[in-house]
Amino acid sequence: MAKSYRHLVLILGDQLNLDASALADFDPKLDAIWMAEVMAESTHVPSSKQRSTLFLSAMRHFAQSLKDQSWPVVYSRLNDPNNTGTLAGELEKAIQLHQPQKLVVTAPGEWRVLQSLRAVAKQHSLTLEIRDDTHFFSTVREFAEHAKGRKQLRQEFFYRELRQKTGVLMDGKKPVGGQWNFDEENRGSFGKQGPGKLPPPLRFEPDEITLDVMALVKDQLRHNPGELNSFGWPVTRNQALQALDSFIQNRLPFFGLYQDAMWEGEVWLYHSHISSALNLKLLNPREVVDAAEKAYQQGLVPLPAAEGFIRQVLGWREYVRGIYWTLMPAYLERNDMLASAKLPAFYWTGKTDMACMRDALQQTLAHGYAHHIQRLMVTGLYALLLGVAPKEVHEWYLSVYVDAVEWVELPNTLGMSQFADGGVMASKPYVASGKYIDRMSNHCKACQFNPALATGETACPFTTLYWDYLNRHVDVLAKNPRMLMQLKNLNRLSEATRTEITNQAKRIKNAS
Ligand SMILES: Cc1cc2nc3c(=O)[nH]c(=O)nc-3n(C[C@H](O)[C@H](O)[C@H](O)COP(=O)(O)OP(=O)(O)OC[C@H]3O[C@@H](n4cnc5c(N)ncnc54)[C@H](O)[C@@H]3O)c2cc1C
Ligand code: SF4
Repeated sequence: MAKSYRHLVLILGDQLNLDASALADFDPKLDAIWMAEVMAESTHVPSSKQRSTLFLSAMRHFAQSLKDQSWPVVYSRLNDPNNTGTLAGELEKAIQLHQPQKLVVTAPGEWRVLQSLRAVAKQHSLTLEIRDDTHFFSTVREFAEHAKGRKQLRQEFFYRELRQKTGVLMDGKKPVGGQWNFDEENRGSFGKQGPGKLPPPLRFEPDEITLDVMALVKDQLRHNPGELNSFGWPVTRNQALQALDSFIQNRLPFFGLYQDAMWEGEVWLYHSHISSALNLKLLNPREVVDAAEKAYQQGLVPLPAAEGFIRQVLGWREYVRGIYWTLMPAYLERNDMLASAKLPAFYWTGKTDMACMRDALQQTLAHGYAHHIQRLMVTGLYALLLGVAPKEVHEWYLSVYVDAVEWVELPNTLGMSQFADGGVMASKPYVASGKYIDRMSNHCKACQFNPALATGETACPFTTLYWDYLNRHVDVLAKNPRMLMQLKNLNRLSEATRTEITNQAKRIKNAS
């Protein structure tokens, strides 16, 4: 007879923290922890080999640390012959075996998962106690309160509220340095000379657990996108803390200045690469923000670098979570620009003549990582200009990045990058021609296309599609005062040039 438990505490793959709210009153004599590896979570979108390995390895390491302290763990492995393949199926099995009086969970990071847990609990007439996720500075209720009565939900205002609430980078009631935001100083490029010698990122040699998972992924998820050879992501809390420390010491000083810059073949630059550790809860955002603030206070990093970084974690990360949970499930269906094209096949292979896209896609498939501007202003921009259906774009982003969890991926993709929510997140679409990419990188130097040209054989597809996008959406965009400058420039183009652009854009779309 299997042992009965008082509570079954559900720990999902992105909830790998011992201080999780669901574990707050855990009693190892009465309760058990339930964790499940299931095929559906790697296939409902084809989770890349890097992402799947990260989640499975981090889960196995976390389960091991629970077992090390003799906490009972009910764990389903992906390759268990009787694994049902779904979270609901595995949970039902555990309920039947262990007859818990209650299910306890920290609020999941995905609407779909929450609904499926609720359905199982209901079917078995069990209470599902959902606790706040304390690995955020704010609660969803606080965001909803902030959103009440506002016509627009801008990150900057929520960020300022959180600065005041937490006292981070505050001097009494005023922001340290007299300014909330140093973005103007944070838009540097590497210039002609390039980035020079960059601090190497801290990567972690796969241990036995990770190697086992890699073999499993290569076997069972061989058709999923990407490669595995370079796997080196932090899979334990200890490794995540080392990765944070390495960033603060070596890269934070230049983070702000080069936040938006790109360089051919340079994957890591001055970014932190801790998003996956944060999203799996191996790191707490409070310790991340504390570390950056302390580095500033100790004079190790300039204020624009510390503020720029803190804004990403305390501002953007909290804000997009609020957007997701207050607007789901309708948010997933938004397509305000009525985009319907298919995602080009080369997003899954990296095989394209566009140098900037090739670089961003190939590093994504190789490492499961690209930095924000590569996601927003290269791969995201191209899909936006091409008019790809936002759900297809969303599914790609959810598949390929190691840090992809829906609460953070969806608003960034659908709202910020594709402008499919009609301006809830972004005050205007992030659209630019190839000249932006030329300014921020060296990609165009070695590309067969010319970012200055919109028509002709060597025209840059970004530039052609940029003018085509403005032209196609001119009626909607003309209502937005922030688009006036760009539309003024569109108006300067002759009728003949516009027709030529439309025809060239059609050819690009047909070939995609
Ligand atoms: C289309 C698109 C899809 C994205 N999908 C994801 C995703 O699935 N998961 C994810 O964590 N981030 C996503 N982002 C946000 C951002 O690009 C990544 O957080 C960042 O690139 C991760 O790399 P890093 O850790 O080196 O970040 P850094 O550049 O070092 O930034 C520091 C931290 O700030 C946080 N952060 C930065 N920007 C954002 C943002 N816009 N929203 C929320 N948090 C932010 C992250 O936790 C990040 O680790 C997406 C952005 C775009 C444009
Ligand atoms: S010319 Fe256009 S396609 Fe080529 S790298 Fe520059 S922006 Fe990208």
